[in-house]
Amino acid sequence: CGGDSRRMVVMYPAPGPGHLIPVVEFGRLLVSHGLAVTIVQRGLPADNATAPASSLHGDASASPFLSFHYIPEPPLPAGVPEGDHVAKVFELTRASNPELRDFLRVVSPAALLLDFFCYSAADVGAEVGIPTYFFFLSCTASLAVLLHLPVLHAQNAVSMGDLGGQPVHVPGVPPIPANDLPAPFLDRTSLSYQHFFALSKKLCESRGVIVNSCRSLEPRAADAVIAGLCTPPSRTTPPVFCVGPLVQSEEVADKRGGECLAWLDTQPKASVLFLCFGSMGRFSAEQIKELAAGLETSGQHFLWVVRSPPGCDELELDALLPNGFVDRTKDRGLVVMSWAPQREVLEHGAVGGFVTHCGWNSVLEAVMAGVPMLGWPLYAEQRMNRVFLVEEMQLAVAVEAGENGVVTAEEIEGKVSWLMNSDGGSELRERTLAAMREAREALSDAGDSRAAMLHLVQQWIV
Ligand code: UDP
Repeated sequence: CGGDSRRMVVMYPAPGPGHLIPVVEFGRLLVSHGLAVTIVQRGLPADNATAPASSLHGDASASPFLSFHYIPEPPLPAGVPEGDHVAKVFELTRASNPELRDFLRVVSPAALLLDFFCYSAADVGAEVGIPTYFFFLSCTASLAVLLHLPVLHAQNAVSMGDLGGQPVHVPGVPPIPANDLPAPFLDRTSLSYQHFFALSKKLCESRGVIVNSCRSLEPRAADAVIAGLCTPPSRTTPPVFCVGPLVQSEEVADKRGGECLAWLDTQPKASVLFLCFGSMGRFSAEQIKELAAGLETSGQHFLWVVRSPPGCDELELDALLPNGFVDRTKDRGLVVMSWAPQREVLEHGAVGGFVTHCGWNSVLEAVMAGVPMLGWPLYAEQRMNRVFLVEEMQLAVAVEAGENGVVTAEEIEGKVSWLMNSDGGSELRERTLAAMREAREALSDAGDSRAAMLHLVQQWIV
């Protein structure tokens, strides 16, 4: 089958590894089922040659059917408040619509798949007459909350940030303390809130929402969303396709920090606690010290991916760790700067626990490796993910911060020891392994995620 004869699907992710990695995985899957895939990215190839993107691009060039198309980064529209980074991403995407339109007119794809940050491109899809879907990169429970946002808005006369710890109720998900909602949801006057509000509507107008999750992980949320219980009565519930968990394949993984794997080879089975906080997680100098002290007193083996605090040079990191820490823990601990090949680390038999920021890709990678989690959220929708993970899926236990936002060394020591050494920790491990088996089943030939993906391919390939 020649390249020209394949139907093309265009995928449009927001910038950042957490967005690009699952998009490339789904793209590879579609290519293996006879489609051609083009991934549209804003900026120049060089700007996108960050962490996984560079290796992902390398992989793409290996397949004639998976390619990247770059559209120039537009100037930031006026009126975006300084510091509202979320609104900035939404606005830049909207400003790129003319470039996207030109590209779509030329390639005329069978479908356009949008990251939710790129929702304003749905207008371009409609204008050019291309069936438009969302590729939703967080969990089904997050989708439930997003679909329900207009209902929550109508129920409350004040911003949800004013509700403090009061629970917010959404069908199919556990009660969420209002202050665990994503930051943009907390202030109804903010530009980013208005974007999420508009996005909620666009989801309902799409041809479908493809979710990187599987029913077995979140049955209640999936049932509620599909039954239309989360959608406002005035709107249509979009078809929902759970096609996950799609996690980074080994061939495209960013191999930086590869010395971790050699070090893990020297460690006993299931003995190592892995600590990694996503592609952007950073701690204050005080928090780094507390974390190091907790790890040291716990006596556990550990592999810790650490970044310098905001505004600090990486070379200064040594000075931020307690005096002599690296030396005292050298037989049982490894500290790596900035990046580790997380997927492969989690798959390594020496790893027995994961302290995660609860980014959805990280959660899926832990589930697919059967590694139990301690949840320590930092940004985006991670606090909400932790509620789902702890209360509903029961695949993690929370690491609790004090009133000043700092997690103490005692809390770290206690939770780490519990995870690695207690009966409760063993039960958590068993539950995670059961979730892993079910998730793998969903992806197998007879599985429901596989069926959902094939259903989509059938729609697009004709
Ligand atoms: N990642 C990695 N090594 C690191 C940090 C992150 O491989 O040191 C990968 C991780 O495996 C995951 C992605 O980057 O696939 C992060 O996505 P996630 O949704 O967990 O968090 P985000 O970075 O979007 O907050």
